[in-house]
Amino acid sequence: MIERPTNPELCIVIPCFNEEAVLPHLFDRIGALELGIPFKVLFIDDGSRDRTLELLTTACARDDRMACLSLSRNFGHQAAVAAGLRHAQGDIVVVLDADLQDPPELLASFIAKWREGYDVVYGIRTRRKESRLLRLAYRLFYRLLDRSANVSIPRDSGDFALMDRRVVDVINSLPEHNRFVRGMRAWAGFAQTGVTYERPARFAGETGYNVSRLVKLALDGLIAFSPTPLRFAFWLGGGTALIGFVMLLWLLIIAISGQVFVFASSFAIALLLLLGGLQLAFLGMVGEYIGRILDEVRRRPHYILGHKAGWIADAA
Ligand code: UDP
Ligand code: MG
Repeated sequence: MIERPTNPELCIVIPCFNEEAVLPHLFDRIGALELGIPFKVLFIDDGSRDRTLELLTTACARDDRMACLSLSRNFGHQAAVAAGLRHAQGDIVVVLDADLQDPPELLASFIAKWREGYDVVYGIRTRRKESRLLRLAYRLFYRLLDRSANVSIPRDSGDFALMDRRVVDVINSLPEHNRFVRGMRAWAGFAQTGVTYERPARFAGETGYNVSRLVKLALDGLIAFSPTPLRFAFWLGGGTALIGFVMLLWLLIIAISGQVFVFASSFAIALLLLLGGLQLAFLGMVGEYIGRILDEVRRRPHYILGHKAGWIADAA
């Protein structure tokens, strides 16, 4: 069994984008936390356009456990988490959403699991409070990812997790631009376990994820951790070609036997649309890969830091 330090240092990373409505409640909940170990909080302001940064800066001045890093513009949730992981200090790091959908009180049980020897403890959402359609989409996505990914990414787990320092170091060492943190966390290996919880609805404010951002995240996950989308084109293309070949044979036999065969033109058009559509769709799929390759070869930084407040400003 792994020896754990008796007095570990914990750092809670919280990405925030336009969260002025929840922040006061978040501060209260964090202030009331009884974890049995000292902890620090690192807020990442992801280019918020409301009073988020102002509230965070005031909180940092009031409580010396708190720090805030702001990004120069909105880089997206995953980039904000990446920034947080890179600047977090301590033996254990926790990633938590600002909107209180990840109950901070659950951290006590995460820490207990860590003491048992687990290096990653993630939250598994048992019941979501989102719309039915969104829930169905999440379900399908996690099943698909689970079936196709070449590492096992736990179903219904998000970025809400506790990670040991060595896992954080592994994630920080991964160079990829399109970061799917929960996938990289699973990829890192070590002992991992989940704790189930009911995911409440967002406490206040609005989600920063619209449909196109969710699709982008889903594609990042699938593309980074599974070769299946490309292979899918291969199998489907092969299958359609085979059907075409059989049809051709059949037509030949009919022609040779001298029967009259009227090929319904509507059928031909339907076939044309189907094949044309499939080709475009797979071209788009390949385009997704190429776009990501472009992102990687450009080697731009994942985010640009702006303003610092609290203990992070004193840290070198
Ligand atoms: N977030 C962020 N940058 C963004 C969008 C969201 O840092 O561009 C933060 C947000 O403040 C929250 C977390 O990421 O703490 C999860 O976002 P949200 O609650 O909007 O997503 P949902 O829970 O609806 O998937
Ligand atoms: Mg949320």
